[in-house]
Amino acid sequence: MNDTLIPEDSPPWYKDGLRFQCTGCGKCCSGGPGYVWVTSKEIAAIAGFLKMSVDLFVRRYIRQKENRYALIERKMQNFDCVFLQDKKCLIYPVRPVQCKTFPWWKEQLRSKESWELAARYCEGIKPQAPLVSYEQIQKCLEISSTQSQEKS
Ligand code: SF4
Ligand code: SF4
Repeated sequence: MNDTLIPEDSPPWYKDGLRFQCTGCGKCCSGGPGYVWVTSKEIAAIAGFLKMSVDLFVRRYIRQKENRYALIERKMQNFDCVFLQDKKCLIYPVRPVQCKTFPWWKEQLRSKESWELAARYCEGIKPQAPLVSYEQIQKCLEISSTQSQEKS
């Protein structure tokens, strides 16, 4: 169907909600090179959680790309996030917004096809999972979109 024929205010394809429940499998924290972006506020919160100075935390765990900061990953271990251990997130209570809002990112929600593509590696996206309402999805999408535009 031609997208230009769809009025801008028409409800998105997922207007009836989507089924998802995280199983904690850790696949979205691994599996290939990428960026887990963090803001200065998040850096301070994670450093505090780990009882480290921000300075030391940045030296150990942060890389810079242009004017943004990201967590480092373990290249020799399937590009695992540095905080992934035994499929668990070591900083779960203070994990970055980017992690908290997955899979409610615009890339995944662009179309039914993108959502199905995400379901190939995210086992939490499945017909038996609880229904997440349209309103809840939009809330997370808004948070994740704001964060992706925010500079570190
Ligand atoms: S891949 Fe999906 S189910 Fe697995 S930890 Fe990530 S969000 Fe949860
Ligand atoms: S911070 Fe935690 S949730 Fe986010 S990618 Fe790393 S291990 Fe996964």
